[in-house]
Amino acid sequence: MSSNSAGRLWAIKEVSSRTPRVFNWPVDKDGNAVKISEFYGVNTFTGKTMRDKLPKHIYTKLQETIKKGAKLDKSLANEVAHGVKEWALENGVTHFTHWFQPQTGLTAEKHDAFITYDDEGGVIERFSGSQLIQSEPDASSFPSGGMRATFEARGYTAWDASSPIFINEDANGKTLCIPSVFISYHSQALDNKTPLLRSMTTLNNSALKVLGLFGSKAQRVSPSLGPEQEYFLIDQAFYSLRPDLIAAGRTLIGAKPPKGQELEDHYFGSIKERIQAYMQEVEFELYKLGIPVKTRHNEVAPSQYETAPIYEEVNLAADHNQMTMETLRAVAKRHNLALLLHEKPFAGINGSGKHNNWSLGDDLGNNMLEPGKTPSENLQFLVFLVASLKAVHKRSGILRAAIAGSGNDHRLGANEAPPAIISAFLGEQLTNILDNIEKGEATAKSTEERVIALGISQLPDIARDYTDRNRTSPFAFTGNKFEFRAVASSASVSIPMAYLNAAAAEALDEIYDAITAKTASGTEFSKAVLEVVKDAVVETKDVRFEGNGYSAEWVEEAARRGLLNLAKTPEALAQMVTPSAIEFFSKAGIYTEEEVEARYHVNLERYIKDIEIEVHAISDIVRTMVLPAAFQFQERLATSIKSLKDLIGDKYVTEQTKELTNVAAAIGRLQEGLAKLSHKSEEAEAMEDLPAKAAFFASDIMAAMSEIREVADYLEEVIADDLWPLPKYREMLFLS
Ligand code: ADP
Ligand code: MG
Repeated sequence: MSSNSAGRLWAIKEVSSRTPRVFNWPVDKDGNAVKISEFYGVNTFTGKTMRDKLPKHIYTKLQETIKKGAKLDKSLANEVAHGVKEWALENGVTHFTHWFQPQTGLTAEKHDAFITYDDEGGVIERFSGSQLIQSEPDASSFPSGGMRATFEARGYTAWDASSPIFINEDANGKTLCIPSVFISYHSQALDNKTPLLRSMTTLNNSALKVLGLFGSKAQRVSPSLGPEQEYFLIDQAFYSLRPDLIAAGRTLIGAKPPKGQELEDHYFGSIKERIQAYMQEVEFELYKLGIPVKTRHNEVAPSQYETAPIYEEVNLAADHNQMTMETLRAVAKRHNLALLLHEKPFAGINGSGKHNNWSLGDDLGNNMLEPGKTPSENLQFLVFLVASLKAVHKRSGILRAAIAGSGNDHRLGANEAPPAIISAFLGEQLTNILDNIEKGEATAKSTEERVIALGISQLPDIARDYTDRNRTSPFAFTGNKFEFRAVASSASVSIPMAYLNAAAAEALDEIYDAITAKTASGTEFSKAVLEVVKDAVVETKDVRFEGNGYSAEWVEEAARRGLLNLAKTPEALAQMVTPSAIEFFSKAGIYTEEEVEARYHVNLERYIKDIEIEVHAISDIVRTMVLPAAFQFQERLATSIKSLKDLIGDKYVTEQTKELTNVAAAIGRLQEGLAKLSHKSEEAEAMEDLPAKAAFFASDIMAAMSEIREVADYLEEVIADDLWPLPKYREMLFLS
């Protein structure tokens, strides 16, 4: 009996005998569950807490700053810091940190204690205004794309007052987190948050101009985001036995389970008790942080789940999504679960995405993508609708770049997720209306009549039309918002949202210019608007697609339409640095040319590193786990055949030798595969041109890895179960 599978058996036993952690929701003195509203946001410095802790005039000024999205007046800082410190100390906080989002896609923090020397050589708690506003972490180890030469490695974090300060609790204490941006000495963006904030400013200006044409009194327009977060959970015991999951976040080998997701019995199925306890604990933690989680359910794949909050202003939603991912991970550990946020942890099983529900709202509570009640409101809606279409049409390359990454390469176009081709879905009703507008089937005299003839006056109906869904579209209209469905599950939402905002701003500017040019030369306003809408409908027709995005016909059709189909990250990222993209970024105030180049560099490097890690992991696993098991199995077969032959002669031996030959051949192919991969890696290492190197990883290195995988998966299927050391798909996905 082999000991190879001892680990697996241990894990199976662990999993089967676990007593699920019970999460006890707090109860009041009568034994009733405490209402969410009673503790919602207790760990955030906002609303009532802020009012209690700050002098009235400071509170008012800070609120104004936040509402306007303006810069914080330095003179406020000391008093705000004092209030924050009081609140933090009362809550048992000992340290503070500027919490920011470097280009790793994760968040970063460096903790400082609230202490300073007093006059008698002891210490007192202190927190100054300048500590609140700015800090200078040793930033040289964060990716910067070469923007900070080593002699000028300084990077600064600066408080982003538009996102509330919060307390992070963990087993080892409490830390005050100050949401911050991360910039270089010369104010270049080193993080994901800065471009997002910049895009909001740009979009605000552009949207206000257009709204002004319609007589709106709004003073601020901001994008809202509701990110639906998908994730997998498997038992920690299985996870700990999979070096590939630990290193790369996905399984690099693994044969298909006998039962996959064919039965579709997981989606919206009843949630297992263990998982339900987990979800409740996650939600409890998130509510304390003022994160409005709303839905939870099983997803399509076994062991896959989803959570979604109520939408918020996009910068806040971006922070909250980051905190949600961290909380999902931290709470998973408490439940002996491992969280997998990777876009494709298991081959052959659906991967995970993050659907970004996006719309624009003004400070008067209106949603720009909500059809209105009057024909004129509907005209305005149409303007914002076609602006969104223009944005995806003109900037599809940049949007594709925004969602690029080694993980999403496995998901996009994998018959479960939107294809890599960026298109927009509107649903039947809106499509008809846009088609009518295009045909100009409204020759009636007055605008009012034309609007009625075009069906625009009936628009309010679509808001309620949720029947018309298209899961295969990367960018789908869902009644009063667009759902950008191609975003990666593990990624920060900041970048896709920043690029989308900027693209929408550009489109709104073009529309504004076109309308005002027409009215200036005497065209009546509504007529001018309709004409501009019509032009936009014609211009963006190619990006609209209502059919099945998974189909091969769509790939052909998209090519005929001249739409981009960028399957892999390197070609997608290259879209960031086309002359048109560089101009776009700089005009929108998102990046200077230097910043785009740097970011392109960082993204390419990240892609290469991701795959390098996979190369090391798969080589290790194959060399130290798969091959040894295969040799043992080969030996077992050989010995058995030999004794068979000794006992009864050649009869049956031929058949059985075939099995042995297959295994021996597979071993040979595996060894060749490893040699090839190592050879290719050396070749890659010598390459100096980064884009070419990334492309080589996408083609040659990935191909070499999948050749290895194919053989390893074959061996997994034939080798005796007791010899196989790695937890199998059927175990990880169905026993956890
Ligand atoms: P579904 O699975 O049907 O897409 P969910 O309820 O899971 O629906 O997610 C929808 C998301 O869209 C939620 O986060 C919701 O708050 C968000 N949402 C709703 N209205 C808007 C809006 N106007 N802007 C942005 N997001 C929105
Ligand atoms: Mg959705």
